[in-house]
Amino acid sequence: MTASLNLAQQDAVNHLRGPCLVLAGAGSGKTRVITHKIARLIQTGVEGRRIAAITFTNKAATEMRERARQLVGKPAGEVLICTFHALGVRLLREDGAALGLKPQFSILDSDDVLSLLKDCGATTDAATARQWQWTISGWKNAGLNAAAALAQATSEGERQTARLMARYEERLAAYQSVDFDDLIGLPLRLLQQNEQTMQKWQARLAHVLVDEYQDTNATQYELMKLLVGAQGSFTAVGDDDQSIYGWRGATLDNLRRLPLDFPRLKVIKLEQNYRSTGAILRAANNVIGPNPKLFPKRLYSELGEGEPVRVVDCDHEAHEAERAVARIQSLRQTSPHKEWRDFAILYRANHQARVFEQALRRAQIPYKVSGGQSFFDRVEIKDLCAWLRLWINEDDDPAFLRAVTTPKRGIGHQTLAQLGEFAAKAHLSLFGALYAHSLGAALPARAVAGLHEFGRELNELRHRARHTVGREAARAFLDEWLQAIHYEKHLHDSSDTAPQATARWGNVLEFCDWMADRCGGQITDAAGVSLSLEPKTLLDVAQTISLISTLNERDQDPNVVTLSTLHAAKGLEWPHVVLAGVIEGLLPFRPDEDAGAAAQAARIEEERRLMYVGITRAQRTLAVSWTRRRKKGREIVAARPSRFIAEMALDQATVREDPREKLKALRAEFAQRASAQSAAPTHTTP
Ligand code: ATP
Ligand code: MG
Repeated sequence: MTASLNLAQQDAVNHLRGPCLVLAGAGSGKTRVITHKIARLIQTGVEGRRIAAITFTNKAATEMRERARQLVGKPAGEVLICTFHALGVRLLREDGAALGLKPQFSILDSDDVLSLLKDCGATTDAATARQWQWTISGWKNAGLNAAAALAQATSEGERQTARLMARYEERLAAYQSVDFDDLIGLPLRLLQQNEQTMQKWQARLAHVLVDEYQDTNATQYELMKLLVGAQGSFTAVGDDDQSIYGWRGATLDNLRRLPLDFPRLKVIKLEQNYRSTGAILRAANNVIGPNPKLFPKRLYSELGEGEPVRVVDCDHEAHEAERAVARIQSLRQTSPHKEWRDFAILYRANHQARVFEQALRRAQIPYKVSGGQSFFDRVEIKDLCAWLRLWINEDDDPAFLRAVTTPKRGIGHQTLAQLGEFAAKAHLSLFGALYAHSLGAALPARAVAGLHEFGRELNELRHRARHTVGREAARAFLDEWLQAIHYEKHLHDSSDTAPQATARWGNVLEFCDWMADRCGGQITDAAGVSLSLEPKTLLDVAQTISLISTLNERDQDPNVVTLSTLHAAKGLEWPHVVLAGVIEGLLPFRPDEDAGAAAQAARIEEERRLMYVGITRAQRTLAVSWTRRRKKGREIVAARPSRFIAEMALDQATVREDPREKLKALRAEFAQRASAQSAAPTHTTP
């Protein structure tokens, strides 16, 4: 198994006891070390369930699980491979009672948090609430609670936000809910305050592996430290040159502190890059060169010089998109990598995706957008999730309000306001208040009857969900539920157009299929292979959905072109990459005028690392494109190529429109359309 690892990688994989840090540049096989080390640990007799491997995204976790399974088969299924946040959920579900949390607590997403903050601060202004959200999140990530935040506040504004945070925390506790930051902060507090729980987890986890270590924040580091204990059996892998989440509190201090906190730390460096050609790697090394280094590194590739990195100079964004598509079409004709999945277009900001989507659609090229709006952020899915959340945690008031009003069931705003007032006085959740004796005295009989009916329906659904096991039963139950709440009709009533309602209903059905699949039993996968999965109850499945960011996860590698933000592309690789919109103001992103010189310089360094991440996603070819003009609001303004293009120090002239390339692309497009037409089924009229 270790034959496919170089000596330094083998060293890291075979260092089974004690702390180990693998520090190396992009594409040097750090993630591969983690996967192989999981396999190695299992082969040496460590039980799968005693290993935790922490990834940066759910998608990365899914991929790692699959790779580990290929290496050691079934036992890999028991390994806890997940994000820090999912690990936090596990800890809190098992041991959160010590913090007053029920095992069925709810996880609020960013929108829920925003509305809760608006409520606490009695404002409807989203910008203000977002500012509070940002500040509070920053405090939580720095390990401060409301009291500590108040104590260290230096302005009246901060003091106000800290007081608001106290109200927000009270509400969260009353709703038996946590936000995303709590998924790290609360487990940390739990382990800090409960010696026994800490010992239990330290004894359980024989080895902890952390990928993308450079992007952990201070609380995640503390959590990791407590989980591994003083003897510290862990493997962290990372690259200081790829730290791109400083704006979200990630800190390179975690790398600096590691050798101090763990004096026995074994540091291993990897120097061979297995991903990219020489030309691409040189451009990457040149860009990252000017950044200050925590640890000196030297990366080389044995894949040969390869194609030169292209700089593509375009007039405007639509032109840039056309050229990217033309490039993909012509490469697909000439390169051995002919699948759509071999191509990616990467950019700095979400909004840049639109023109590329349009150009790809025009050319009939299938694509997916990652890092953009998640399936779970769609209104219809959030509606249904509100019901699921209530099945799990009846005290989740935001979910209660959404479910009781969606679809409408004749329970009006006034009734809910009265119920809210009553519940607050009685120190009950909204659901809890339904069954209080004195409710009848506070609300009109008709309103109480409507609320009781809702409560009864909910209880019945929950009871059945708890006993619904396996795919078939789950699917039937979900259909019945949708019918009972008249959800399809609700979509038609609330959508602007019929096609919109149909599309939304399609999403709902897809969601239900996916939930049902997760209930296991006998299922058939996309390739028509019949699989037998461990059966789960619908309630168990509902518990895990809050953490899943996208449905695409089940479709690991569909054969489509990827459009992605640079942040979402971390850790991934494609044979052909177009890095688009590489202009001043976008990459690097426009400077924060109010920031001081040191902060500005630090920001440019982080943007440079982002460019480095982008370049190093490419295996065979890389094109970096920029536009002479760009849209800024409603205006068209002049644009300049990013300084990072010059920093790549390419020894070639910029490529302007190449008529031969265009001709090749057009030919490719015609050929593709012709073959699509001949392959299309012919329709006969009945
Ligand atoms: P990043 O910094 O982008 O996260 P990484 O250091 O985690 O990159 P991997 O993704 O593990 O790198 O590996 C990059 C590519 O090189 C992958 O395709 C991997 O399969 C391949 N690779 C890594 N090590 C070896 C090796 N020893 N022999 C052959 N291929 C390797
Ligand atoms: Mg990696």
